[in-house]
Amino acid sequence: MGGGGVVVIVIALAYMLLTGNSPADILGGTTSDAGGAGEEGYVGDCTAEQANTDAECRLNAAVQSLDAYWAATLPEQGGVDYELPEVVSFTSAVDTGCGSATSSTGPFYCPADTTVYEDLAFYDQLSSQFGAEGGPLAEMYVTAHEFGHHIENQLGLFERADRSGTGPESDSVRIELMADCLAGMWAGNAATTEDPDTGVTFLEPITRDELDQALSAAAAVGDDNIQRRSGGDVNPEAFSHGSSEQRVKWFSTGYNGGTIQDCNALDASTL
Ligand SMILES: [Zn+2]
Repeated sequence: MGGGGVVVIVIALAYMLLTGNSPADILGGTTSDAGGAGEEGYVGDCTAEQANTDAECRLNAAVQSLDAYWAATLPEQGGVDYELPEVVSFTSAVDTGCGSATSSTGPFYCPADTTVYEDLAFYDQLSSQFGAEGGPLAEMYVTAHEFGHHIENQLGLFERADRSGTGPESDSVRIELMADCLAGMWAGNAATTEDPDTGVTFLEPITRDELDQALSAAAAVGDDNIQRRSGGDVNPEAFSHGSSEQRVKWFSTGYNGGTIQDCNALDASTL
């Protein structure tokens, strides 16, 4: 992954300079050779059977479950009504309220247009590039993490946090760890979250193997793992998303019955 990292950093800098609004992606800086015809789709309906075979349909199932979970949980625990985010899946490139982005950004949330941008090619990269186990729950963790940023945005935390810096105690890391924790909250409740219209649950109970997939994905996108895999030394001062251990810890906090308050890494004394 040698020179690719440099290219990505340049793109990311240009992106921030142009928009003044960095995308809250799941990674600090990812590399991607995603090519092919640029494809952009809005998440629509599909059958349960398709959800088992098709990444976009799995995304759809996760999105519906996330919407139902947060529509019930955010008012109760956060004191604000849940507004549905837009969800746009893309491969290669996409224009957003935060500027244009490519697959090098990976999945991200844009607060300006309250939209989750899902890079479907990133699911494969999780395993091939970052060493995650892969699997459906790993994919859903990615989506749930971006929804976590939407929840943070609705709670007004993006306005309070200074996401321009890096480092182990930075607001950038805190915002990312909180998104992992909020993703864990959803995962811990996903099997009992029902479609409000039909009363049917969106997902089967999560197995130990599936939980391990999500934990493996959280560990894979830790800053230290990414730094090591890109051939560099671990440099905490460059952390933007937290270490593998921290990401697993915060996801687990949410998963094991944590509340929004428990997930508040922005104000936590220890990360
Ligand atoms: Zn993130």
